[in-house]
Amino acid sequence: MNAHAKPSKLIKGADGDWEVVIGMEIHAQVTSRSKLFSGASTAFGGAPNSHVSLVDAAMPGMLPVINEECVRQAVRTGLGLKAAINLKSVFDRKNYFYPDLPQGYQISQYKSPIVGEGKVVVDLPDGESVTVGIERVHLEQDAGKLLHDQHPTMSYVDLNRSGVALMEIVSRPDLRSAEDAKAFVSKLRSILRYLGTCDGDMEKGSLRADVNVSVRRPGAPFGTRCEIKNVNSIRFIGQAIDYESRRQIETLEEGGTIEQETRLFDPNKGETRSMRSKEEAHDYRYFPDPDLLPLELTQDFVDELKKGLPELPDQKKARLIADMGLSAYDADVLVAERETADFFEAVARGRDPKIAANWVINELAGRLNREGHSIADSPVSAGQLGAILDLMGEGTISGKIAKDLFEIVWTEGGDPRAIVEQRGMKQVTDLGAIAAVVDGIVAANPDKAAQAKEKPAVLGWFVGQVMKSSGGKANPKAVNDLLKQKLGL
Ligand code: ADP
Ligand code: MG
Repeated sequence: MNAHAKPSKLIKGADGDWEVVIGMEIHAQVTSRSKLFSGASTAFGGAPNSHVSLVDAAMPGMLPVINEECVRQAVRTGLGLKAAINLKSVFDRKNYFYPDLPQGYQISQYKSPIVGEGKVVVDLPDGESVTVGIERVHLEQDAGKLLHDQHPTMSYVDLNRSGVALMEIVSRPDLRSAEDAKAFVSKLRSILRYLGTCDGDMEKGSLRADVNVSVRRPGAPFGTRCEIKNVNSIRFIGQAIDYESRRQIETLEEGGTIEQETRLFDPNKGETRSMRSKEEAHDYRYFPDPDLLPLELTQDFVDELKKGLPELPDQKKARLIADMGLSAYDADVLVAERETADFFEAVARGRDPKIAANWVINELAGRLNREGHSIADSPVSAGQLGAILDLMGEGTISGKIAKDLFEIVWTEGGDPRAIVEQRGMKQVTDLGAIAAVVDGIVAANPDKAAQAKEKPAVLGWFVGQVMKSSGGKANPKAVNDLLKQKLGL
C-alpha cells in the first residue's frame, strides 16, 4: 500500500509541499501472570530482582519453556487485528550485548513470526477513516532495567522485567500525519484492552512505540527514514513526528541528505536527537534458538480462541449505530474505552439509548474528566444513573431535578429513588397546584401578559418564573399548557 496524503495533510516547506510518511513498531507487554519462558511473576513494582527465575538471570544450563498463555494472547491479538495466524513460527536468538541482558541475546521471532498480515481501521475526528496495514506481530522477551540513581559510582541492574513477554506489532508505512499516528496508537491500544492481551498503560511502559518517519515530495518514492525509539505517550508521538518531519524537510531543502539512523525524543526540549546509526539485521547474527522447537499450533486451537473473542470496538460501534440509533460521533466516544462502553450498555439496558448516551457522555464523562476520575471508580454507578433516568422517564422528576439528583448521588451516594422521596424532590403534576401558581404570576405581571400575543419569547419568561417559584418541581409540560391557556395563546 502506498496511499497518498490528502492535500490538507501536506506540510509547507520553504520551497513547496512535503508529505510525511510514518510506520510504527509497537511493543506491547502481554498480559500474563508469568514470563514468556519462565514461571517468574510479571507483577509490576516489586522490590528489585524479586521476580527473577534462574532462566531470567541466564544461569548456565537453564532451559526456556514456552508459556502457553502468552501464545494464546498473541494469537488472540492477531485475530483482533484481522491478521493471518501462522500455524508454524520460529524463535530466534537476536545477539547483542547490554548489561540489562544477561543472556547476551534476546529470544525473538525474525523470519517466521506467529502473526502475519492484518489491518486496523482508524476513524479520525473529521470523519475520514484510514486503513493501516499490519505487517506482522511477533513474540519476544523484554530486557531488564539499569538503575543509575542508587549509587554514586555504580549502576545496578533490576531483572524483574527480564523475560516478560512482549508483542512487537509492526505497521506498514501507511500513516501520513502526526494525527493519523496518534489515532492509530489509540485505536490499537483500545483493541488490545478489549481483547485483554495488553493493559496499554504507557506510563508503566506496557505500551511503547518506535516511530519511523520519512518525508517525500507528493507522489515521489519513499524517502530515507529515521526511527525514533521508545516513545512512551501519545502526545509525545505527535510531538516527535512534528519535530522530526520539520528537521528532515529543512535538511533536504538546504541540500543535505537524511542518514538512516536511530534517534531519541527528548520530551523536555521537544526535540529528537541522534542516538546511533541504524543497525541492520545481520548485525544481530540471528539464528533459530537451539533450545526451542518451532512453535506449531493446530487450526482447532486457533478456532477455539476465535470463538472466545469479545466484541471489539468496530463491531460495537456498528451495533450502537444500527441497533441503538446513536450518532457515529457518540458511538466513537462510547466505544473508545471498554469500561465506558460496558458502563453505557449497563445504563442503556431497557432504557432509551440516546438519553443514556447523552447522560454518560455529557453529565458523567464530563464530570469524571474534570475531577480526574476514571469511569472504573465513578462515584455514580451504572445502577444509580439508570435509576435517575427511570425517575425522569416516568415523570417522577423533571430533567432539571434529575441534574440536582445526579449531583447529590455524586457527592453523597445513596439510592436515587429514596433520596427523591426523603427530600421531596418529586415533580408536581397536580394541575390545580400548578394552575394556582400560574394564575398568581400572570396576575402580578399584567404588562408582560399583554405582550405575550405579539412576542412568543414572553411565554418562555413566564415558564421560567413558574418553574422558579415551584423550585423546579412543576411538570414543565403542564406549566406550558396552563400558561398558553391562561394567556390565550
Ligand atoms: P527494519 O526491518 O529495518 O526494521 P522494516 O521494513 O521492518 O525495517 O520497517 C520497520 C518500520 O519502518 C515499519 O513500521 C515500517 O512501516 C516503517 N517504514 C519502512 N519504510 C519507511 C519509510 N520510508 N518511511 C517511514 N516509515 C517506514
Ligand atoms: Mg523491522
